[in-house]
Amino acid sequence: MKIHEYQAKEILTAYGIPTSKGGVAKTPKEAQILAEQIGGKVVVKAQIHAGGRGVAGGVKLVNSPQEAYDAADALLGKNLVTHQTGASGVPVQNVLVEETAEVSKEYYLAIVVDSDAKTPVIMASEAGGMDIEEIASTSPEKILKVSVDPIVGLQGYQCRTLAYGLNIPADSIRSATSIITNLYNVFQGKDCSLAEINPLAMTIDGQLIALDAKLNLDDDSLFRHPESSSLRDKEQEDPLEVEAIDAGIAYIKLDGDVGCMVNGAGLAMATMDSIYLANAMPANFLDVGGGASEEQVAQAFRLILSDPSVKRILVNIFGGILRCDVAAKGIVEACTGIKQTVPIVVRMLGTNVEEGKEILNASELSVTLVDDMKEAAEAIKQSA
Ligand code: GDP
Ligand code: MN
Repeated sequence: MKIHEYQAKEILTAYGIPTSKGGVAKTPKEAQILAEQIGGKVVVKAQIHAGGRGVAGGVKLVNSPQEAYDAADALLGKNLVTHQTGASGVPVQNVLVEETAEVSKEYYLAIVVDSDAKTPVIMASEAGGMDIEEIASTSPEKILKVSVDPIVGLQGYQCRTLAYGLNIPADSIRSATSIITNLYNVFQGKDCSLAEINPLAMTIDGQLIALDAKLNLDDDSLFRHPESSSLRDKEQEDPLEVEAIDAGIAYIKLDGDVGCMVNGAGLAMATMDSIYLANAMPANFLDVGGGASEEQVAQAFRLILSDPSVKRILVNIFGGILRCDVAAKGIVEACTGIKQTVPIVVRMLGTNVEEGKEILNASELSVTLVDDMKEAAEAIKQSA
């Protein structure tokens, strides 16, 4: 689950990491009032679940409350497109208004899970700021990495290795090691999959401060953090994904035009590979799960049908606990009363496969039934 910068900063503050003085505004007037309270010179920042805002004009440094009003007015109620959003962007419903920091240097600091090493890894660079992705691809040696044994925990010497490696001035080493330690505490304490401060800024008077903050919370840990559920902002999420989460279906929107419905995550991945091999692109990843009910199958199929980018559908069911007849009934139910506008290819195998095929054949639907993945890929190719 992604959260907004202002929410992430509240968490960082609670864990003792310095952030700028500021507040959230929903209207230009509120932004103006905040700027007056802060003292005029502020930065007005679009709050969206994506980075790359600086380059896209979503971060504005202004000199007066009136300019803060204008900056907020230009951002609020519009969609902001950055290189991390889709072409239509995401809606800006809040801006963060903060006291402007006088910055002398920008560092990068982040913690993610290294799935190869099976540990959290801290990444840091003295070439922080808006070009970090460029640095990562062209000069990866400028990014320091330290793995943390999750049982032993982060050690003092590791923080010092990072701080000295970043060439932090001697006077600020203590503050740097404390920020690194506290960010690790946030990462562990909130069960993050990502905790990032970019930039971690050095101000001209020698203070380190988190100017930006990004926390992604591990969805599988949310049950342990009832306080985190209120941080969710559904407006920032894909509406189909929101619907899927609420229905308990594993669904991720993708860029292609082949809608797919599969039972089991591994089979779903293999199905997506087959689609690529057929020179096509999946419109989604969708796993109804091993023991889905007829209603859940119908819900999943309706989800695919409601996606305007879907031009053809591939269903791949390996009947086990989810029987083929149940899956077939779910598909038919989802299509009842709807005019079929896209070709549907169904590959079914396993428990009650004959019953499943009969149900589909007896229905009003025009379905291409195939027996294996190769045929399925071929049928998808034909449907182009
Ligand atoms: P992002 O582009 O979405 O990652 O947004 P950031 O919050 O990182 O802001 C982009 C850039 O704006 C930062 O890298 C800074 O260079 C600049 N910026 C943000 N806040 C301040 C500030 O208080 N003072 C100064 N001087 N620059 C700022
Ligand atoms: Mn940033």
